[in-house]
Amino acid sequence: MRQKQSRTAEFSAALRSTGTPKQQLERLNRWLEVALNNMVRGLSMFDAQQRLILCNDLYRKIYNLPERLTRPGTPLAEIVRYHAKHESAGGSPKDIEKQRKWIAQHVAALQRGKSFTHTQHLQGGRTILVTNQPLSDGSWVDLQEDITERCLAEQKISWLAHHDTLTELPNRFHFHERLEAALGSLAQDDGLAIHWFDLDRFKAVNDDLGHLFGDALLRSIGARLRRVVREPDFVGRLGGDEFAIIQTHVTQRRQAIHFAERILRILNKPHQVMGHKIDVGASLGIAMALDRGANAEDLLNMADVALYEAKSRARGRYAFFETDRGYEQRTRRRLESDLKAALAQEQLELHYQPIIDADTGNVTSCEALLRWKHPQLGAIAPGDFIPLAEETGLILAIGDWALRQACRDAASWPDSIGVTVNVSAMQFIGSNFYDGVSTALRLSSLAPQRLELEITESVLLRDDAQTLATLHKLRERGVRIALDDFGTAFASLSYLRSFPFDTIKIDRSFARELPRRVDCAAIIQSVSSLARSLNMRSVIEGVETSEQLAMLKDKGCDQLQGYYFSKPVLAREVEELLVRVHGANDGRGMP
Ligand code: C2E
Ligand code: CA
Ligand code: CA
Repeated sequence: MRQKQSRTAEFSAALRSTGTPKQQLERLNRWLEVALNNMVRGLSMFDAQQRLILCNDLYRKIYNLPERLTRPGTPLAEIVRYHAKHESAGGSPKDIEKQRKWIAQHVAALQRGKSFTHTQHLQGGRTILVTNQPLSDGSWVDLQEDITERCLAEQKISWLAHHDTLTELPNRFHFHERLEAALGSLAQDDGLAIHWFDLDRFKAVNDDLGHLFGDALLRSIGARLRRVVREPDFVGRLGGDEFAIIQTHVTQRRQAIHFAERILRILNKPHQVMGHKIDVGASLGIAMALDRGANAEDLLNMADVALYEAKSRARGRYAFFETDRGYEQRTRRRLESDLKAALAQEQLELHYQPIIDADTGNVTSCEALLRWKHPQLGAIAPGDFIPLAEETGLILAIGDWALRQACRDAASWPDSIGVTVNVSAMQFIGSNFYDGVSTALRLSSLAPQRLELEITESVLLRDDAQTLATLHKLRERGVRIALDDFGTAFASLSYLRSFPFDTIKIDRSFARELPRRVDCAAIIQSVSSLARSLNMRSVIEGVETSEQLAMLKDKGCDQLQGYYFSKPVLAREVEELLVRVHGANDGRGMP
């Protein structure tokens, strides 16, 4: 400070050493002008009324201001307006209003003694660093520094740090950074997939044709990838002939598979490199993440393992990271919480599939089959969510709902048509199942004789007296009991003796194998005759073709079910279905 004061004093002394006060003032002005115009920064000063006090040449040049706007006393607003008009190619009333607000805020802050630094991007591509420094009397100084070159250099350095110069794709570091960010910001019902791939014959190409050729090939691959992978998806070169893509917004495997197939198709097209047509091919590993905060490193490792797997199977293929228990657990957890909501939100539905009398060809009943219309995942098959519902106990509420809904639907059908409802073993645990069935019957006013419950051997597997008692009680009430999926377990025959079933449903695998295996026909025939001798009806499910139907003739099955007659249909389509089947049949019996 002392030094500064003394320097100012030296300056004053030098100024006053010769000449009249007027000459001294002229000298001062000259010195000031020389100093200002030799600065490497633009400089301007404004007074407390926001009028220009002075500015240097560089200031004028940076903003390309006309002479008249650089005269002392020019209002800041005028300079800004001119600037806005020329910089934002318009100066619309909205722009001007925005500028006005900006100045007001800026000046208010300066007058509170706050200093600023901000960057301005001018139209010609220049970048200016502006510093506003307030002075004690409400005036302030603006300094403008042209940092265009510095920014470009910085950008260049940053680009080089984030990209692979050969293919111009993001490099491993950048890819990692991006993956971490994507995982960290995954929305609740969102997911992503990593596709990691490498070229199948790259080493051979490199060895046979040389590195220059290899580089050109990699550039060609890079160019293809840049063309097909679009934001917000992200592609990078991880090194050598390894590349990876972040596919965003993926929640289902088939979306990832679809994408992988597309990428492989594109990479597998021959490349035109330095006058050669070359076919390298690629293999690809996929890993998926469905949870926010999943670990990027883990995910990349999974994709790497999957890639290895893909390569070991066959070239030019993809593979999923299969042993990803974490993934399965997460999917499960998510489905579990969704399933809880599904009932309340009426996403569950019953579809009905007719069961046909083998002699008359008429519909005797319809089997109720659950469907889940998941809002994001689409239709989920019962095979995918019933086991989950069983493990979590949700099957109790779902089973109850299905019973009531099926009884209610069936009550609107003709009296001759029954309804069959599948029941899980778990529903028998506890003592409420009988009451549940009673309530469903009472609420729907459905005759108990029209209801049949399908159980599997697993219900009897527990061998407890209570389950058997419940089944007997239901039968006494008039409800029928069917043994479903017969023939899929070893002990099937012994279970036939443990309870007087009304119906045996022979598992659909028998119908499927029928045309190829003679023993299937024999088994179907003997189960049917066994059923008859035990006073039970037999149903064969899964009849899909007329060939199967022809082979089932004379095998003694009482009833038939399968796509040949009808796929499961919506509840509201049942009536139409009955008309269709009966109309086609028209009392003529089975074809
Ligand atoms: P399931 O009881 O053996 O039901 C028959 C399954 O075979 C149904 O599959 C049906 O759509 C299918 N199907 C019918 N005809 C044909 C055919 O000609 N060919 C072939 N390939 N398949 C045919 P879905 O609807 O996927 O049901 C699968 C299983 O889910 C059912 O097997 C049943 O065990 C269970 N399930 C369905 N609804 C319920 C329910 O309300 N409660 C319980 N506990 N389980 C249910
Ligand atoms: Ca069934
Ligand atoms: Ca079955």
